Amino acid sequence: MAGKTTISAPKGVPDYIPPASRTFVAVRDMLVAAADRAGYSPIELPVFEDTALFTRGVGESTDVVSKEMYTFTDRGDRSITLRPEGTAGVMRAVIEHGLDRGALPVKLVYEGPFFRSEAPQAGRYRQFHQVGIEAIGSDDPALDAEVIAVGHEAYRAIGLTGYRLELTSLGDAVDRPAYREKLQAFLAGLPLDEATRERAKLNPLRVLDDKRPAVQALLSDAPLMLDHLSSGSGEHFRQVLAILDRLAVPYVVNPRMVRGLDYYTRTTFEFVHPLLGAQSGLGGGGRYDGLMAELGGQPLSGIGFGLGVDRTVLAAAAEGLTVGQSARCEVYGVPMGEGASRELAVIAGRLRAAGIRVDRSYGGRGLKAAMKSADASGARIALVLGDRDLEQGTVMVKDLLSGDQHPVALDRVESAVRDILGDPTPTVPAHRPE
Ligand code: AMP
Repeated sequence: MAGKTTISAPKGVPDYIPPASRTFVAVRDMLVAAADRAGYSPIELPVFEDTALFTRGVGESTDVVSKEMYTFTDRGDRSITLRPEGTAGVMRAVIEHGLDRGALPVKLVYEGPFFRSEAPQAGRYRQFHQVGIEAIGSDDPALDAEVIAVGHEAYRAIGLTGYRLELTSLGDAVDRPAYREKLQAFLAGLPLDEATRERAKLNPLRVLDDKRPAVQALLSDAPLMLDHLSSGSGEHFRQVLAILDRLAVPYVVNPRMVRGLDYYTRTTFEFVHPLLGAQSGLGGGGRYDGLMAELGGQPLSGIGFGLGVDRTVLAAAAEGLTVGQSARCEVYGVPMGEGASRELAVIAGRLRAAGIRVDRSYGGRGLKAAMKSADASGARIALVLGDRDLEQGTVMVKDLLSGDQHPVALDRVESAVRDILGDPTPTVPAHRPE
């Protein structure tokens, strides 16, 4: 009979498999932990939403909405889109559940997969992961500085040092239209090709981001938003920078920064890693003063970021960092015989219940092969249990680091293991309220 053909993952969609999956999860959790340290509460949202949420929330003229969305009609004839970013969904949920009627700012953190139909390449996938935070309901510049500092501290906790924080101010609802007109007038006087002229009409700010050297040369005298801020926006930006200075968060002001999403106003920033090549954006965000009202909510301002987990993992590798524990377990059990296998099931179960990470070999393998597996697992300790040990009610506890080994009574295994492992990592046990 002919074999069935195999099925591959869709193009541009990565799998996260061991051992690299451990690093991925560790990086993701460290990004989330930085937000947790600043009082952000977790929010878990659907991966698909009503398409209108993104066309209205992200902006119809953006590449993300016009070219990259996974949109389909469901069985109820509704237009559904796999979320390409996180902010619009968070705003939808905040409005829908009235979170904005409680204490402000509402501070939320999320993590999960996002979907964009981009051309796949190194660091650019069609399903990728972000950790994001949103702080809604205050335009205090201290909040802008907090959000930026959370990103910086997240990368620092991972050990990254080679990234650059770029930021600028994109002005507010008053400054921006006036500046936009000035920029459009300037662009209209340039010998640009037809497609770029069209872009200048629709979204002139995006033209500033044109990577072609010939176009960049034409743009050297372009008016910049940063030089046309109202006194309010200018002062707001200066205060954000002043707090970052006092926090010793290094940054570069980049007045030509353009972001791919339309909703940004005032403070806008990006973390860039030069070792990542063409896809150098590690994460980015900014203030979105008009978004909540645009989605039918109160006119509250907000600020947030989305940090790419995939690219943070790549950046850590590029800097030669090892993130997270590579060991699959702390203790590895090696039973020699059927009776030993059953006894080891009990020993392993008890140690796991006591919070120790235990794996073991199965299937009557020889001592040599099983010890090889013990080494490969990354365990510090091997528990070798043969028939003779079983008769004597002991197990051989071997420290794989020092090579020391000694028999230990079965009811003393946990304390013998703890003596070698040292202090356990403190965990917060689940509890029932009194
Ligand atoms: P954005 O939501 O476009 O501001 O992107 C924020 C971060 O998400 C970027 O800096 C990247 O690290 C990551 N990201 C965005 N798009 C992709 C993608 N297609 N593949 C991998 N990471 C991405």
